[in-house]
Order: sequence, then structure tokens, then C-alpha cells
Amino acid sequence: MSGARIVIVGAGFGGLQAARKLSGRGFELLLIDRHNYHLFQPLLYQVATAGLEPEHVAKSVRALLREHDDVRFLMAEVEGINLAARRIFTTSGELEFDYLVLAAGAENQTFSLPGIEAHSLPLKDLDDAVVLRNRLLGAFERASRTPDPVQRRAGLHFIIIGGGATGVEMAGALTELIEHVMRRDFPELDFDEVGVSLLEARDRLLPGMDPDLSEAARVALEDKGVRVRLEARVLSYDGKTLDVEGIDPIRTNNVIWTAGVRASRLVRELGVEHGPAGRAMVRQTLQLAVHPEVFVIGDAAYPEHIGKSLPMMAPVAIQMADHAAVNIVRLERGQTLLPFKFSDPGRLATIGRNAAVAQIGRLKFTGFGAWLIWLVVHLLRLIGFRNKLMVFLSWAWEYIFYDRAVRIIHGETPHPEQSSG
Ligand SMILES: Cc1cc2nc3c(=O)[nH]c(=O)nc-3n(C[C@H](O)[C@H](O)[C@H](O)COP(=O)(O)OP(=O)(O)OC[C@H]3O[C@@H](n4cnc5c(N)ncnc54)[C@H](O)[C@@H]3O)c2cc1C
Repeated sequence: MSGARIVIVGAGFGGLQAARKLSGRGFELLLIDRHNYHLFQPLLYQVATAGLEPEHVAKSVRALLREHDDVRFLMAEVEGINLAARRIFTTSGELEFDYLVLAAGAENQTFSLPGIEAHSLPLKDLDDAVVLRNRLLGAFERASRTPDPVQRRAGLHFIIIGGGATGVEMAGALTELIEHVMRRDFPELDFDEVGVSLLEARDRLLPGMDPDLSEAARVALEDKGVRVRLEARVLSYDGKTLDVEGIDPIRTNNVIWTAGVRASRLVRELGVEHGPAGRAMVRQTLQLAVHPEVFVIGDAAYPEHIGKSLPMMAPVAIQMADHAAVNIVRLERGQTLLPFKFSDPGRLATIGRNAAVAQIGRLKFTGFGAWLIWLVVHLLRLIGFRNKLMVFLSWAWEYIFYDRAVRIIHGETPHPEQSSG
């Protein structure tokens, strides 16, 4: 082929797949990411709840590209893009492209609610997960040396905001960490003082799934001891008190925010038309309308012909990457480009040990069956044999011994009540 220079921004699910698909076709390929690793975000909550090591859910991009020696990797932050000049500005200098595949993903979004960004804990990247783990484990250490019961309860009340899959999975895993591990590790604490709440602004959990499954998830979480509050609209948080519409202020030092994401800043500041959540509006071919040499995929893209936002999920990003690669090749050959169609493989969410919900086409599963499906799908999707093996061993250990392998508080994690110990 022409030797055209293709730059791919983002080595997440979409960008990595695009690089692999375009490799071996005679292009000059450059993949850029601010991190040197590809992250498997679906298991981040298990890093946050002390089940998995950060290294289990991430893998070096260079190692993943070893078989593709026509793809170069650059670890750099992309600071801006001049679409008209076909130039990219990075922390390692300027670059030119003939084609651009923009797979920069999404970032946390707190809707300008007062105090949420400053005081709550997000769960979007690996650093977030480690900070959260430190905060959760640290909260128990702190409580064990806090004489005042009011302060102790506030330090041991964990509130998760957002009843999507991440919030549900986080709530389930956190109650199990508390019940199976912390209860044994901290005999000096009164566990009636510990609480996990899940707050959702809508009238049901898991809004992307069938209402029966939303209800099954709610019941399973409440059976595990999670206090689920629906139609609970958060107003503000000052690090100590959470204000929620229609109910008394809640004292808590631990608010975990999983209630919103939007397209990454790079995409929002691109100067093109945007759909909901700042996702760049793309044609049915996944190209930008005024810059057909630019393809936007994954969480960053809003394909307007579908008429609604596609879920921010890995299969969407991977299918779009495959499609963008096919269309770039067709463009080079002077062939007509094909419209993108999403084929939904289904939705899954685990609530904890032996409990999950799954929706695959018209089929719905709950309980142990759904949990097994969840385990198999996540093991298969995880990248790298070593990661699969390590995750499998960690899960087996946890299942047999009711234990969590990773209970180290490591690195700095600021805490609002740091001085109270
Ligand atoms: C906690 C959590 C749980 C999830 N669980 C599931 C699940 O169970 N199932 C599922 O299907 N999906 C899940 N998702 C969603 C899924 O991870 C995303 O939809 C998917 O990662 C999107 O792929 P992407 O390629 O668009 O973006 P990403 O995979 O997010 O990749 C974007 C990449 O771009 C890089 N980047 C961004 N901006 C820049 C810049 N300016 N300079 C350099 N690099 C940059 C980032 O470092 C990142 O590597 C989950 C997400 C989260 C946060």
C-alpha cells in the first residue's frame, strides 16, 4: 500500500485493536499513549478492593506489539491536534499524519456538583484504583485508633454514587472485602459501625439492562448488606457531609464516584461537532464530517446515524477499531466506505461470589450461572497469558480461602481526616 502515515491516539481497547488490524498492510503506523501500558478497565474495581495487583490488569504496550514490528509506540501526552494542518502536538514534539485514528477514550465527569471532584474518589484509571485501595484499607486502620464513635462511623461509611455496572460491582466487592477479610483482620472494631451504601439517581440500577435484572441486582446487593437508595440525587459533598436531595445529610469520609464519564479532553477540545458527553460526532463510516482522514472510535465517538449514544463499552471500541481499519484500507484503494453497525454481545455485571446478572440477546441469567459466564468472559478478554493465569489464581485463592491477596497500603493517599489519628 501507499506507506501513508497513520497516527493512532490511545492504546486502550480501540487504539490497540486498530494498530493490530492496520499492521502488515504497508502503512507507517505510530501508536501514542500517555501510559506505557494497555489497561483492562473492567477489572479495576478488583484492584480497588484488594483482590488483584495493578500489574494483573495492565500490560506493556510494547510487549503487546512485539509481533507487529511495523507499529512504533510513543509514550507521550497528546496536548492538541490541528486538524486542518494534520499536525499533532505532544509532550515529545510535533508530528504529522495522513490518517488519524482517535481512540482517546473517556474521563471522569462530576457534572460540576459542588465538592464532588475535590473530595470524592473516582475509578477510571490504575492510579485511581490504587488510591481507592489505600483509602479503603486506611479507613479501617484509622478507625481502629479513633476513640470518638461519631468520627469512627463517618470513617467507616462507604458511599458509592452511581448504580451502573461499575458502581454495582464495586459495592458487591467492597461488602465482601469487609465481611470476609476486614471482619477477621480488625477484631477490635464493631462491624455494626461499618456501612456500604449505593446511591443511584434513576429509579433502578443497571439502566442498560432489562428491569428484571436491575431488580435482581438490587436484591442481591441488599442481601449482601449494601444499602441501595434509588432516586437519590446527590447535591454536594465537602469531604465530611454528603448532601442528597430529599434526605438528611449523610456523614461520611468516603465517597466513591462512578456516576459519570465524558469523552476525553482532547476530543472535547477538537473544535468539531459533539454529541452527548462530549463525544465527537462521526459519520456512519466513523470519519469526521469535515476531515474524512480522521476516524474517531470507542468512548470518544458518537456515530450520528445510529441516533443514540452507543454504550461506553469495550466491545463497541473494538468493533469500531476493526471497522475504521477496514475503511482506511478501502479509502486507500479508492473503494466505497462501509457503514458501521454495532453487534451487541450482551451485558454483564457481577455482584460478588456466585452472584451476577447477564443479558445476552433475549436470554437473561442471574445467580451462579451468570457469575460463571462473567468469570469466563473476563478471563478470555483479559490480555496476556500471564495476566489470565495470575487473575485465575487470585480468584481461586479468594474463592477457596475467602481472602484477598493484596492488602498493602502503599504510596501516598491524602485523607481529609489525616490528622485525627
Ligand atoms: C471502572 C470501569 C469498568 C468498566 N467495565 C467494563 C465492562 O465490564 N465491560 C465493558 O465492555 N466495558 C467496561 N468499561 C468501559 C470500557 O473500559 C471502555 O468502554 C473502553 O475502555 C473504551 O475503549 P477506548 O479505546 O475508547 O478507550 P480506553 O480504553 O479508555 O483508551 C483510551 C486511551 O487513550 C489514552 N489517552 C487519552 N487521552 C490521551 C492523551 N491526551 N494523550 C495520550 N494518551 C491519551 C489513555 O491513556 C487510554 O490508554 C469499564 C470502564 C471503567 C472505567
